[in-house]
Amino acid sequence: MNDSDTPRPVKPQEDREIDYLMCTQCGTPCYVFEMEGSRIAEAVCLVCGNDEVRMFNIGEEAGTDE
Ligand SMILES: [Zn+2]
Repeated sequence: MNDSDTPRPVKPQEDREIDYLMCTQCGTPCYVFEMEGSRIAEAVCLVCGNDEVRMFNIGEEAGTDE
């Protein structure tokens, strides 16, 4: 078993709606963003001005996990 080489199973993201991103810099929900499939293409935090997509997390509460 070599789990580190196993890619995560790719799920279709079409039915998953992202409501917001969390700005990891100031912890504010951010609604100004663009998704490209399942990854963040563009995002801007209006509170702190962060526009680094790596500094955002997808709001996990957006959808149901089960
Ligand atoms: Zn911010």
